[in-house]
Amino acid sequence: MSLISFTLDAVEQAAKAHGIRRVTEIRIVVGELRMALDDQLQTAFRLLTGDRPLFEGAELHIEKRPVCLRCTACGEIYPSSIPRIGRDVCPACGSEEFAIESGRELYIDSFEGDEI
Ligand SMILES: [Zn+2]
Repeated sequence: MSLISFTLDAVEQAAKAHGIRRVTEIRIVVGELRMALDDQLQTAFRLLTGDRPLFEGAELHIEKRPVCLRCTACGEIYPSSIPRIGRDVCPACGSEEFAIESGRELYIDSFEGDEI
């Protein structure tokens, strides 16, 4: 919910700065580690845009980024579901030490609108 609220505020500011009167499409990138379900995001989006004319009829596109880990021993990058020490092991060298390479993303990729 707060994720969508934050997104709408940021887009609203940017839209005003560019003279956009109606936003038609918003694209956000969300890492799998954010634990945000598409359905929940879409529901929050509909609820929060209901009384904001700027977003009337706007669509929300969600791009998910998978979790990838980077082995701190050899630099190999490999996919994971939910990283845990001792469960994720580097496929190249067997090390259990890793850093999170991706999956924590949370940003607005782009938005489109009409200048009326
Ligand atoms: Zn390794």
